[in-house]
Amino acid sequence: MADKINVTVWNEYRHEVKPGVIQMIYPKGIHETIASFLRKQPDMEVKTAWLDKDKDHGLGGDVLDETDVLIWWGHGAHQEVNDEIVEDVQGHVLNGMGFIALHSSHMSKPFTKLMGTSGTLTWREKAEKSHVWCVNPYHPIAKGVPQVIELAHEEMYGEFFDIPTPDDLVFISWFEGGEVFRSGNCWHRGKGKVFYFQPGHETFPIYHNPEVQHVITNAVRWCKFEGSTDTRLIGTCPNQNFTINPLSDPNKREEDYDF
Ligand code: ZN
Repeated sequence: MADKINVTVWNEYRHEVKPGVIQMIYPKGIHETIASFLRKQPDMEVKTAWLDKDKDHGLGGDVLDETDVLIWWGHGAHQEVNDEIVEDVQGHVLNGMGFIALHSSHMSKPFTKLMGTSGTLTWREKAEKSHVWCVNPYHPIAKGVPQVIELAHEEMYGEFFDIPTPDDLVFISWFEGGEVFRSGNCWHRGKGKVFYFQPGHETFPIYHNPEVQHVITNAVRWCKFEGSTDTRLIGTCPNQNFTINPLSDPNKREEDYDF
């Protein structure tokens, strides 16, 4: 088998450490639930990291160098994420690391840095029905995914969602209160691929849903870099001091022209 996809699942991991319904749904944290369904995939090698793991939030040293796809779940502590780590995540994405932002990560530092927009949206924290409609069934992330994923309870996220127009729109969600939302969006940033997926409010067992798991699993495979590794690294900006075709007068310089 070809090399496995190295996945790092990063979670804020603040809600689940407090006794209550969130801890009952995710006793080992959202990251462990996501990691455990991905670990069942024979082509994936999965690690976890979280905000308070260490001073680098578990993402220092060689962790990002050894990550093909980074999954991110954050909510109330976006501002506590160290800016140097955010820069490092962005740099790795530009050089080919995949990045999947889940649910309330729409305003996380790495996601808004990669997007260049605020990531703001409208929201309502009730327990309303949500239908996640697949609007791009030929996209790799939609492979084996039903036309609609029905979630009994989810937090409403609505438009306007302040994101750049996605390169591919894969899902649009409908909510019981009437709103619609671009809930599954793909972008390319440098050599890296980015996917945002809306489902995943912490008080509902969304990441235990097999269809949601299927989307995230497909997204990991889509986000893994598959382009030409011969391409020069992003950020080096080299002077192209050779030519493919001969120049008519190679000694002529900019200052030799009269205007
Ligand atoms: Zn939420």
